[in-house]
Amino acid sequence: MSARTIFCRFCGAAGAHRFGKDRRHRQRYQCSHCSKVFLRRTNTVKSGSHLSDRQWEMAMKLFATRAGMSAADLSRVLGINPKTAQKLNRIFRHVVQGLRPHRIPGVSEWDESTFSTQWVLGGVSRDSKQCLLECIPDRREDTMCPRVLRAAGPGGSSSPMSIWATTVSIVT
Ligand SMILES: [Zn+2]
Repeated sequence: MSARTIFCRFCGAAGAHRFGKDRRHRQRYQCSHCSKVFLRRTNTVKSGSHLSDRQWEMAMKLFATRAGMSAADLSRVLGINPKTAQKLNRIFRHVVQGLRPHRIPGVSEWDESTFSTQWVLGGVSRDSKQCLLECIPDRREDTMCPRVLRAAGPGGSSSPMSIWATTVSIVT
């Protein structure tokens, strides 16, 4: 599947096709599975937002690298209304909270990556699809294993043997 594959914003099926433009000249898509018509932003955190994709991308990068940046600073950097910046911060915190349960039960898979210079350990539960992300100082075994075991909990079966390293570049 190419990176351009569009997933339906209603049923999640892959492979929606282009379906003309709306009044504001934004590309519309139609799902080949449920036939619903949507825009790229429909039913995403961006729906109803007047910010550009570029501003969203910058705001997300700033949140990822400088979590806790104040709404006042964010509004200055992006040149947006402080109220809008407050709303962005609320949205991002809400999204991240969903990613950070204390436990991911059942069978889980783990990976670790660097964001710029920060190592991040990530796990996903095969059963519940819950995710967990944690900043770690390095990728040594005795750094990662206790964390994986703690999150997997009693009876959980994690697969630390499948841990591998990747370097993610967020510089575009
Ligand atoms: Zn659909």
